[in-house]
Order: sequence, then C-alpha cells, then structure tokens
Amino acid sequence: MRDDNTNNDTGRQGGIRVTLWGALGNILLSLMKFAAGIVGHSRALVADGVHSLSDLGSDLVVIGGLRLAARPEDRTHRYGHGKYEALATLVLGGLLGLAGLGIAVSAMSSALDMLKGSVSAPPRLVAVIAAALSILVKEGLFQWTRSEARRIDSPALMANAYHHRSDALSSVATLSGVLGAMLLGERGRILDPLAALVVAGMILVAAWRILQESGNELLEAAVEPDVEKEILEIIQSVPGAMNLHQLRTRRVGPRMVIDLHLDVDARLSLSAAHAISQTAEDRLRNAFGRETIIYIHIEPGDIVSKTHI
Ligand SMILES: [Zn+2]
Ligand SMILES: [Zn+2]
Repeated sequence: MRDDNTNNDTGRQGGIRVTLWGALGNILLSLMKFAAGIVGHSRALVADGVHSLSDLGSDLVVIGGLRLAARPEDRTHRYGHGKYEALATLVLGGLLGLAGLGIAVSAMSSALDMLKGSVSAPPRLVAVIAAALSILVKEGLFQWTRSEARRIDSPALMANAYHHRSDALSSVATLSGVLGAMLLGERGRILDPLAALVVAGMILVAAWRILQESGNELLEAAVEPDVEKEILEIIQSVPGAMNLHQLRTRRVGPRMVIDLHLDVDARLSLSAAHAISQTAEDRLRNAFGRETIIYIHIEPGDIVSKTHI
C-alpha cells in the first residue's frame, strides 16, 4: 500500500539499491562461472553462468523499468510510461528462452556423445568451488532481498528475492552434477551435462513465467480476482452507491486502471450524484495508490436498471 510520495521514494531507492547489489553479484558470478566452467571442464557450470548473465539482464530491466516507468505522463503518453517495463521484460523473456533452448540442445548433444562412448575430461575442483560459492552468494542475496522486500512491502522485490533462491537451487543442481562427474569416474561423467539440462529446464520455466506476465500486461489482462473483489467491496461501502456493473480493470506498469458503471438514486441532483462518485474514487485511491486511474459512469439506478446492461 502506498500512502504518500516520500514513503514511495525511499522505498524505490531501497529497491534500486538492493537490485544494484544483486546485479553486481550476477556480473561477478557469471564471470566466475564461465572461467571456472571452461578451465574446470564443466558444461553445467557454463550453463549456470549463462543463467547468471540472463539474471543480470533482468536486473537491468528492473532498474531501468523502475526509472523509465516512473517518468511522468506527457502530451503524447497520457497514461504515463508504465508499459516500458512490460515491453522490456517481454524482450528479456524471449532472450532467456533462446538461451535456455541453446543450453538444452548443447547439453543433450554432449550427453549423447558420451553415451556413444566418446571420452571427456572430468571436471576439476575449481568447478566445485565456483558452484559452492554461487550457492552461498545467492542464498545470502535471497535473505537480504527478502528482508528489504518485507520492509518496503514490495511484491516486485519479493519476486526478485525468490528468483535469487531459485538461482541458488540451479547452482545446487550444478554442484551435484559436477561432484558426481568428478567422483563417480568414467560412468559418472554424464551427470555434468544432465545437470546442465536441469539448469536449462529451470531457465525455460523462468522465461515462460516472464513472457506470460509481461504478455498479459501488454494484452490488457484484468487484475487478479481478489483485487476485483476488493474493488467491489470498496464501492459497496460508499453511502448512496447502488448497483455496480461493467467493471473493467487493467494495469499500466505500476498503476491500475479501473472503470465501472454505478447506479445511484435517479432523483438525486447532479452534484449529489457526483459527490458519491468522488467518494468512491477517493476510497479506491486510498486502497490502490494516488496514481490509480479511475472512470466512474453514473447511471440513474431505478429507471434504467431493468433495461440497461
Ligand atoms: Zn535466475
Ligand atoms: Zn451501465
């Protein structure tokens, strides 16, 4: 819930700061994984490195999106610039999907080569160390981001926190593949490309979620059913509000757009009817933020309610 602008700004600053640290972590982790994966003969670690690189991309979208989407509305963009974030995220989701497919194909072909009997060098200790370090760093980032998200009550930041946790799990898969390939001898080697395949699967699931979410926003999807229910309850709490219909909702970046038809007593004066819709708007903005865009179409209830849809 966003009550005033000062709160909102410190919240955004904190969100940007923890995201910047996450981005720095992802730069260092991807460099370390590429180097250790190549030197240490581990496909799984290189795949995990691609994952960290794509995470860096999503950090940049979050940071850039927070900045761009916060740009005020101007003469040519009367609804603000909130959809920049969804658009950038859609592109990122597409790139992530391609990266996941690329890793999956190369991991499968190397697993098939091993099954056909081609011999490969076992992973080295440096790959184990890099995977273990990645688990520690990502778990730490998860704990920190989650506490920051709780402090400023930000669902976007909370989603980011759980992303760090899933990255830690991706490195757990990598670590077990590398360890198995090192310790189980010739027959265990295949565990490394299999771990790369698991990592690719996790990347593809993440890409699918990102594409779905940003695609929904671009296609003007309605907000979640509980939020619509909350809107109904708020309107019903307004004195003088009668029947509500034609409720339509969508999101433009961080702002919600609500439009609806509201019946009021047909004998009311125009200013009394307007006061009812003003109260409804105020209560909705108190609940969903000052920036919420609201249209309320007032109708004379008892006359048209039987014929009008
Ligand atoms: Zn990730
Ligand atoms: Zn109507």
